[in-house]
Amino acid sequence: MSIAVLVHGGVGPHDFQTAREQGMEKAVQAGYAILEAGGESLDAVQAAVRVLEDDPTFNAGTGSVLNELGEVETDAALMDGATRRAGAVGALHGVGNPVDLARLLLEEGRHVLLVGDGALRYARQRHFPLVEPHKLVTAAQKKHWADHRGTVGAVAVDHRGHLASATSTGGIAGKHPGRLGDTPLIGSGTFADSRLAVSCTGDGESIIRMVLAHEAACRYREVPDPSRVAREAIERFGLEVTGIAGIILVDSGGRAGWASSPGTSMLHGLATPEGLTVGY
Ligand code: ASP
Repeated sequence: MSIAVLVHGGVGPHDFQTAREQGMEKAVQAGYAILEAGGESLDAVQAAVRVLEDDPTFNAGTGSVLNELGEVETDAALMDGATRRAGAVGALHGVGNPVDLARLLLEEGRHVLLVGDGALRYARQRHFPLVEPHKLVTAAQKKHWADHRGTVGAVAVDHRGHLASATSTGGIAGKHPGRLGDTPLIGSGTFADSRLAVSCTGDGESIIRMVLAHEAACRYREVPDPSRVAREAIERFGLEVTGIAGIILVDSGGRAGWASSPGTSMLHGLATPEGLTVGY
């Protein structure tokens, strides 16, 4: 089986930053190290996303964009393609690593999606580490210096050919409190089955309307070509809804595909046995 991990750092207007490229490389390395050691794709995507949640130059965990009240409010999800187990959390305050909380939910298996105060209550009951919400607000975000996009996501296939996907975000800047985007909605921003793992970024409301990740997974059954499926998904998005989107996917054979709307770029990094590349 050919192992692979593909990570994205969000779609947006062209924005090339060395710090973000370095962060991306670290995230890809973290995910790939797990796969290389014979570990599982679910652990690999979680590890890659966690690195970027901790990196303040990305819009996830620490450094997330602020809502209209000036608060960080985050969403995350992950899905295991082989078993279709999924865990997702949304509208969270004071969670530095939302992807880890989503993983806890996935492992427990009782619910798929928990949001807001209920999700925090769940976290506290399990002694999940929480931080003072203001600790996730960076000076750059306060000054709107970094009003960039920069949602993060990862897809991976492990040595057994099992797929997994994870996505984490602060959402869109200035959003209404309580707003959930596509990221924690299984099938919209995050999806994996036994054939394909998908993570999306972009205008969440439009991605939800397209159910974009699941749409790509369905198309892959007809056209098992990851590059083509990614390209076509973004083309259809452009024809049917407004805004921009980016998508990454990997199949069980380790073949990767990615695409983003015309006029945008999407920082991403790919690691396979052939090596590691970071690009836009
Ligand atoms: N899709 C994310 C959301 O709408 C934002 C992004 O990817 O930039 O919450």
